[in-house]
Amino acid sequence: MTAIALVTGANKGIGFATARQLGARGWIVLAGARDEARGKQAAQDLIGGGADARFVQLDVTDEESVARAAAWIDAEFGVLDVLVNNAGIARGDWSGKPSETTVTTMRTVYETNVFGVVAVTNAMLPLLRRAPAARIVNVSSEVGSITANLDRRSPMFGMASIPYPSSKTALNMITAMYAKELVDTPIKVNAANPGYCATDLNHHSGFRTADQGAEVSVHLATLPEDGPTGQLWGHLWTADGGGGSGVLPW
Ligand code: NAP
Repeated sequence: MTAIALVTGANKGIGFATARQLGARGWIVLAGARDEARGKQAAQDLIGGGADARFVQLDVTDEESVARAAAWIDAEFGVLDVLVNNAGIARGDWSGKPSETTVTTMRTVYETNVFGVVAVTNAMLPLLRRAPAARIVNVSSEVGSITANLDRRSPMFGMASIPYPSSKTALNMITAMYAKELVDTPIKVNAANPGYCATDLNHHSGFRTADQGAEVSVHLATLPEDGPTGQLWGHLWTADGGGGSGVLPW
């Protein structure tokens, strides 16, 4: 079966790797990007790698752009099998500590990482409902886990910053709520933890590759019928140097 997948923020990093991996499965990949030149280049690179890829202009913070993208997908395909809400940004003020954080920075991060996901998901849901077994993947992070952040043994414990971590906490709850609303449908909604991957987002300081991060999204995008919904799943990074993949605490 040829599935159709939309990946937001697909022009680089984990999003591009996700699009490439889904394309390698023979799927039609809709590479969402806010910038036309970067998006077209990404689609060309995906096609060069053998994928059936199309560029879709999609700025997740711009509701007109989101609506246009949904209308285009409807006109072109009439259905969407997978939505990977991957676009995300990280910002912080000065030390990044809560006491030094401006509301402007909070708003900026939430516009993309939180409100953008709701806008795109709601615009795409009518198309996802037409698919036999749609999957929604929200690319979150272990830094959004309240449990991990309050656990002295967790690598997250040393962090005290609010814009990005709390945006992913909000995304985790959004994931849980969509999963509950859609529990009686074939649609599964999960949050992905790619792990700490070297991308532009963190000035390439991560110890995993974008491809390894993308494998988490692809796993959740291709869950079988008896797979889970409403989970935060992905790379496990523990103080004792543990690895592998599994369910993370919210
Ligand atoms: P990245 O290389 O910086 O890529 C981010 C992507 O999001 C880019 O394509 C960017 O487009 C796009 N984007 C940003 N704002 C957008 C908007 N308003 N509309 C549409 N696209 C937008 O970062 P990444 O590490 O691959 O991040 C991908 C996702 O993984 C994010 O949600 C991030 O929070 C999450 N994540 C990353 C890590 C990590 O260690 N890297 C860990 C956990 C979670 P432009 O090129 O136009 O800016």
